[in-house]
Amino acid sequence: MGNDADTKAVWLDDGKIEAVLAGCRGREDQGRVREVLAKAGELKGLSLEDVAALMGARSPDLTEELFAAARTVKEEIYGNRIVLFAPLYISNICSNDCLYCAFRKSNSKVTRRTLTMDEIAEETRILLSQGHKRVLMVAGEAYPGGGIGYVLDAIDAIYVAREGGSSIRRVNVNLAPLSVEDFRLLKAHNIGTFQLFQETYHRPTYKVVHPSGPKRDLDWRASSFDRAMLAGIDDVGMGILFGLYDWQYETLALMMHIAHLEERFGVGCHTISVPRIEPAIGSELASQPPHAMSDEDFLRLVAILRLAVPYTGLIMSTREDVAIRNRTLELGVSQISANSRVNPGGYKEDRRFESAQFQLGDARSLAEVVRDLGDHGFIPSFCTGCYRLGRTGKDFMDLAKPGLIKDKCAPNALSTFEEYLLDYAAADDLRAGETAIDAILAGMEERPRRVSEALLAKVRSGQRDVYC
Ligand code: SAM
Ligand code: SF4
Repeated sequence: MGNDADTKAVWLDDGKIEAVLAGCRGREDQGRVREVLAKAGELKGLSLEDVAALMGARSPDLTEELFAAARTVKEEIYGNRIVLFAPLYISNICSNDCLYCAFRKSNSKVTRRTLTMDEIAEETRILLSQGHKRVLMVAGEAYPGGGIGYVLDAIDAIYVAREGGSSIRRVNVNLAPLSVEDFRLLKAHNIGTFQLFQETYHRPTYKVVHPSGPKRDLDWRASSFDRAMLAGIDDVGMGILFGLYDWQYETLALMMHIAHLEERFGVGCHTISVPRIEPAIGSELASQPPHAMSDEDFLRLVAILRLAVPYTGLIMSTREDVAIRNRTLELGVSQISANSRVNPGGYKEDRRFESAQFQLGDARSLAEVVRDLGDHGFIPSFCTGCYRLGRTGKDFMDLAKPGLIKDKCAPNALSTFEEYLLDYAAADDLRAGETAIDAILAGMEERPRRVSEALLAKVRSGQRDVYC
């Protein structure tokens, strides 16, 4: 049976967003903010009005209370593990003209390229040789042959590539909206998360920044996750491109989107990405975003999201610089990319800027990122356990809510970190990593510690890809 929400953002209530914002914009209600922070501590998530109240917290003291609450929730649910991944761009050909993106159709300053299956396998092997196990496959919206056959072949090419006995264990994708039938095909090719950023939920802004191409249709894009879920893809990743419109409006709209999916399918989104617009070759808008978001507001946003949807992963890409990335880790981010190239063929050719989608803020190697995480008390994790064991969508949330994810995530983080240390790390990093693992084990409760020690023993005896 067809449902309006399969093709239209029937849940996007602009009037309600404006009304909620009007009730709190520019006002800091200290009593109300503290009430919401106390509620957030129950780990049950927040309402639209609660989120709006938190956005009013501006004074240094209250902002610090907001950050402290976010740190507590982050630690409570996720512990200190950070999941690592790398994007893999397969094509920069696009039929849209998004004003902020270097890949837009009318931009002649970018050399167009669609990778062959051999080239995709080669890029994958380079990522594997660095230690990556998770890839986010990305493409412009125009595939050779018209249908999504190319995309499906590309997913297969990534999964079958081998380097030193290792392979990519989870392929997430960031692609344009699809029909239910095409989503079914994507699901049959074993994708992990289907990611799609709405860019902006503000209809007038959406129209201006997407002047032509299929992406002009906000409703088709905003209803993508309904179709993905109808097709059985229950891990979906949302995102907003911050800088296009008022971040507070966008955040409330995102909350509405999540509430709609929860109501219709019993599960919201698996992850949220928070890209801010970065300079992009051939894009004036990207150099001067109309609603540029300050670092202070960006940190507030991460903290608010951590409290509002405590069980949803937060992703931070290499768009941001090292300092901001490190600050957001403690406030709520649970997944980061490392050593990214955002141009097709960028790993092999070691090109960072040429024909790239946007400018990168963090150019460190995976080894440097891993070292830095350890120095800041985090466990770098290459875990793909939940997805492999079918713990996705509602099953994942049901497990996450009573706090069990910490019991699974921490042992899996340690075992995959150990794999990384033994297979890819330099001698100094191996020593430092083993010391960090010992310290983490010493501080663990007995049950997860015993599970961790058993997994670590397997890895040390030569087994790979072990998880619980
Ligand atoms: N082409 C598909 C689409 O637009 O949905 C797939 C992904 S696109 C290559 C990946 C994302 O990059 C976009 O959704 C957008 O949010 C982000 N992006 C585009 N231009 C950007 C810029 N200048 N700075 C930061 N992020 C940008
Ligand atoms: Fe194409 Fe996506 Fe870039 Fe828009 S954001 S121009 S759809 S690649």
